[in-house]
Amino acid sequence: MSTTVITNIGELVTNDPDAEDVLGAIPEAALVIEGGKVAWVGPAIDAPEADEQYDAGGRAVLPGFVDSHSHLVFAGDRSQEFAARMTGTPYAAGGIRTTVAATRSATDEQLTSHVARLVDEMRRQGTTTVEIKSGYGLTVRDEARSLVVARQFTEETTFLGAHVVPDGDPAEYVELVTGAMLDAAKEHARWIDVFCERGAFDEDQARAILAAGAAVGLKGRLHANQLTYGPGVRLAAELGLVAVDHCTYLTDEDVAALRDSGTIATLLPGVEFSTKQPYPDARRLLDAGVRVALASDCNPGSCFTSSLPLCIALAVREMGMSPAEAVHAATSGGAQALDRDDVGALTVGKRADLMILDAPSHVHLAYRPGVPLVAATWVGGRPHLSTH
Ligand SMILES: [Zn+2]
Repeated sequence: MSTTVITNIGELVTNDPDAEDVLGAIPEAALVIEGGKVAWVGPAIDAPEADEQYDAGGRAVLPGFVDSHSHLVFAGDRSQEFAARMTGTPYAAGGIRTTVAATRSATDEQLTSHVARLVDEMRRQGTTTVEIKSGYGLTVRDEARSLVVARQFTEETTFLGAHVVPDGDPAEYVELVTGAMLDAAKEHARWIDVFCERGAFDEDQARAILAAGAAVGLKGRLHANQLTYGPGVRLAAELGLVAVDHCTYLTDEDVAALRDSGTIATLLPGVEFSTKQPYPDARRLLDAGVRVALASDCNPGSCFTSSLPLCIALAVREMGMSPAEAVHAATSGGAQALDRDDVGALTVGKRADLMILDAPSHVHLAYRPGVPLVAATWVGGRPHLSTH
């Protein structure tokens, strides 16, 4: 098996959990790849010989971002809604219906090429693993084909039939989601998710939907406590879910429940940026001992960014995270939120998913907001070649 060494790395972020600092950073480092995995990391001066050599030129190398929350399968454009919101129209969950209509009318090919373009956009910004949800079909046929499209790009697919009640009686719709829709979706999904929020699904409905998913082997996650205080975060903790996402409005009881259950709080600051809402308080969560992830929530309504560097900059500027904590949350945190131990770190045995920054350290991701610092993204030990 051929080996590649990346040498002359100014700062190598490993996310080694045994290191003294949060990022397990190694200065003046090298990293050896064999069979698509990390085979060695350490000081460049000690690096073993390899078949191929790549000189990082003193730049920083980080684990690829693990974006644990996105809604990439959709059609249509809501830029006018965004423009209206920026000049005073508040965000309401019902705007989803506009995208649902466009998605239902799109062909599989149109949906697939749109997701391909967005995934490529993510790769160029350092993301190497992405979770993709359904949730803009909201019929048996359209939810199933949304997941078939998503599966072409990731193993981390999530059935979100319970995104919003499209029309008619909510109780009948929950029956559809937990019945025929789940039946059609289950073979194409690893996760099941519910938008547990006023105007979407309440606690009892969320509980029933997650239980139906669990009964057919889907692991649960929740959208919760985005727009106001509510029961979603405590439900996630009670059920021992891997992650609960948004966590903007939290009581002290919610924070304690997350700490005690070990459920990851996935924060999505691009949403607050794009809806002019208050940011979640990451500092409060970290100080309480809650594990935190950062993800994009890339979607056409409340947050149309695919950029984890933007989310890191916002988390540092607005949410009380240090640059190191924010980078850790967007890499290792994302991996934990997807229950993955093969990605999110660059220690021996992990997948060689990484980014090379046009910068000497990870701090530049927050220090130089809006600047395209990701010089290259490697997936499974090979440079990603942009197709768009
Ligand atoms: Zn979402």
